[in-house]
Amino acid sequence: EIKIDNLYKSFGEQVVLNGLNLDIKDIHSIVIIGPSGGGKSTLLRILAGLEVSDSGEIEVNGERIPKEEEGLHEYRKSIGVVFQAFNLFPHLTALENITLPLEKVHKIPAKDAKERAEILLKRFGLFEHEGKYPHQLSGGQQQRVAIVRAMALKPKFLLLDEPTSALDPALTKEILEAIKELRKDKKDMVLVTHEMEFAKGVADCVIFVSGGKIVEMGPPGIVFENPKTVELCKFLGGVD
Ligand code: ATP
Ligand code: MG
Repeated sequence: EIKIDNLYKSFGEQVVLNGLNLDIKDIHSIVIIGPSGGGKSTLLRILAGLEVSDSGEIEVNGERIPKEEEGLHEYRKSIGVVFQAFNLFPHLTALENITLPLEKVHKIPAKDAKERAEILLKRFGLFEHEGKYPHQLSGGQQQRVAIVRAMALKPKFLLLDEPTSALDPALTKEILEAIKELRKDKKDMVLVTHEMEFAKGVADCVIFVSGGKIVEMGPPGIVFENPKTVELCKFLGGVD
């Protein structure tokens, strides 16, 4: 359940989020699509507590996202993020990449952290790779480790910003399967992607963001098959 009320964010003179509103319930996976520079990542960063809006309110499951640093710090710990820029730690193995944040940030005993990590590594087909360093893993495997790392924190919800960019079609499929697996748990997630097939595969609700606003939203069957605005038609025409 996410409620966004009149969200504004500018960088200098540039208005990036321009009074964005959203109110959805009983939806577990939201996929955000839209043109480059439209404000998708900015919205995701605000949802993650990594950036603060200029004005407007966001409630997630009835709780307001704090704006002051102290509250934000706690809030961030409750969210799982898989951003392209948030790469794995290169000097740690796959397993350590998952257990270290559990131990250091969440104060979970090493033994429990390892147990929790290994259950997830098995589930995502990574168990045999747990001792490898990121450079010894394929792009898809690295991205799955990043997903497992976020999942291991038992987040309230998961935010994924283009988890398949820079991956070839086979690896994209691999990540799609991993994300479908998350969906089985009914884990709430918000995902940004440029891959429309991917959006169709995992979205309960697709949101088209352009010019800092939500221009259209709905179930994938409707948004993709029956776009109402010229803007979305152009966008879909341009990327397919
Ligand atoms: P893409 O599909 O290319 O990832 P996006 O929809 O995710 O695009 P954002 O990353 O949200 O777009 O950026 C929206 C606009 O805000 C862009 O014009 C970008 O240059 C600007 N912007 C984002 N972050 C900053 C920042 N920290 N400082 C200044 N400008 C920024
Ligand atoms: Mg982006």
